[in-house]
Amino acid sequence: MAVVCSQIIGWLERLAPKHLAAEWDAIGLQAGDPGALVTGVYLALDVDPGVVEAAVEKGCQLIVTHHPLIFKPLKALRWDLPAGRLLRRLAVAGLQVYAAHTNLDVAGGGVNDALAARLGLTGVVPLGGDQGAELVKIAVFVPADHEAVVRRALGEAGAGHIGNYAHCTFRTSGTGAFLPLDGAEPFIGRVGEVAEVAEVRVETVVTRQDLSRVLKAMLKAHPYEEVAYDLYPLLNRGVAVGLGRIGHLPEPLTVGAWAERVKTVLSVPAVRWVGRDRQRLVRKVAVCGGTGAGLLAKAKFQGADLLITGDLKYHEAQTAQNLGLDVIDPGHFATERPVLAELARYLEDRAAGEKVDLTVWVHGESQDPFTFV
Ligand SMILES: [Zn+2]
Repeated sequence: MAVVCSQIIGWLERLAPKHLAAEWDAIGLQAGDPGALVTGVYLALDVDPGVVEAAVEKGCQLIVTHHPLIFKPLKALRWDLPAGRLLRRLAVAGLQVYAAHTNLDVAGGGVNDALAARLGLTGVVPLGGDQGAELVKIAVFVPADHEAVVRRALGEAGAGHIGNYAHCTFRTSGTGAFLPLDGAEPFIGRVGEVAEVAEVRVETVVTRQDLSRVLKAMLKAHPYEEVAYDLYPLLNRGVAVGLGRIGHLPEPLTVGAWAERVKTVLSVPAVRWVGRDRQRLVRKVAVCGGTGAGLLAKAKFQGADLLITGDLKYHEAQTAQNLGLDVIDPGHFATERPVLAELARYLEDRAAGEKVDLTVWVHGESQDPFTFV
């Protein structure tokens, strides 16, 4: 039995829920048709012409990448420029493209867990996320016949996540009363007359990080001109989430030995190292796949001896030195690549569990634009 693209998207979003993505990110189905039938999925960090041709050759209908195909809005779709050419090829080949980016960085079993596991770290926890996410309770008053629409909008925007449960809400019925004043255009009732309406109070929780997105979605779905809602800061905390991870080594190693291990495990010929003493013993290691210079201070204050991340710049390296934190930089590509194998295993397990025919391929070529010479 073949599977519909949207069903695979559902599996991917169970692993890496969309609400975990940064607000500036571009994720989800970026090209194609959610209703397309899929028998083969091709996994890569980026969509490039080599990936598209390999996906076509393997008979895949869906490409899943970490980096978004369309990140900044396209201003033109031209066949003579690389982005337009790629999109045309995808359309002609009938390929769908789905991206899981910062949501896959943060997600359990995502980019950073895959990197920590590949490096053999133990007792791995989110970096900087030890306190758990700050939570806010939303209570919104909705006319009874619009309650389901607003509740769905809240859930789809990322509200109501408690542990392994999504779309969690509580609702109570009551009567709302209001007097529309001059200038109002009430959805129910008339200006100058007190109206009484059967309303439902819908309550749910949201992380502070997701609050503005959830409010925007809630206000869009709500029929009233002026929406009555309350926000309560909560003392209980949500699940600890964070971009990076921190864990222990099975036994202490010197930085020099660590650098060699990273080269072997991540299959890179060289790494950049920020530090002064190759014999320094490393016990606790922080990792952040891709670009993790923003986590230097967090790594240091959470007790890391070493941060492994890509894309470190000159002044960021100086900051690390001043903090007394060693950094090993194997590059952006090498630190993100391990997630592809995990993702393949996850999709294969889901497909087997649901008894559908699905073949998953991982792009074997390096997509790293940098080469050591
Ligand atoms: Zn990246």
